[in-house]
Amino acid sequence: MPQVDSNRCDLCGQCSDFCRYNALLCLPGQVVTFPELCHGCGGCSRLFPQQAISEVPREIGTIELGTAGAIHFASGLLNIGEAMSPPLIRGLKNTLIESEGTIIDAPPGTSCPVIESIRHCDYIVLVTEPTPFGLNDLKLAVEMVRALKQPFGIVINRSGLDERRMLDYCQREHLPILAQLPDDRRVAEAYSRGELACAVLAEFKQLFAGLLAALDTVLQQNQSNATAGETS
Ligand code: SF4
Ligand code: SF4
Repeated sequence: MPQVDSNRCDLCGQCSDFCRYNALLCLPGQVVTFPELCHGCGGCSRLFPQQAISEVPREIGTIELGTAGAIHFASGLLNIGEAMSPPLIRGLKNTLIESEGTIIDAPPGTSCPVIESIRHCDYIVLVTEPTPFGLNDLKLAVEMVRALKQPFGIVINRSGLDERRMLDYCQREHLPILAQLPDDRRVAEAYSRGELACAVLAEFKQLFAGLLAALDTVLQQNQSNATAGETS
């Protein structure tokens, strides 16, 4: 978060105008900071010639690390009362080990925590449900990833409900459907026991293996397209 050195500050107000999150307010006699609103973008401490702002750390949560078999796991826990999760998400992403496959489970929606989660990812999987609300949210998410120019595909969860409109939309927009996971009460039962669907239901294990293979294929295609683009 920013800390203002009043000896250097000439109250020009540029930081206050710049901060999109209103975490800084330039008043006639001082600059007031609102740490809870700061997204930690670093702009205010770098951009202005007076160099009156420095960055100081502030604890907003914790990052938990663990393993499950060969899988490394990291989870971010925001302190109660904190509103801004992007700095925690950024900190969590910094702990990730570069490996063959890293999956980041982003929150739903199109807000800052989602953008922070998917930033710099090789591929985005938009998971949706074939309901009117699901379709509405999917349209917003598609607009978001298109604006970010990131490659993406769709997974339809609880497939088997009335999904004609969802399928029509995907076809009209040329959206690749990577997998359709059937609506199955046994998944909810497994979940309520703390078990993974793919661990207890053979057909779901196959579906997730197919999804992984589909992701492998699109990632390799994207990689070779990027290499071809660099060489041409
Ligand atoms: S940009 Fe720097 S000098 Fe200007 S009001 Fe903000 S802290 Fe003060
Ligand atoms: S670091 Fe970014 S979000 Fe935080 S106060 Fe400065 S400009 Fe605003």
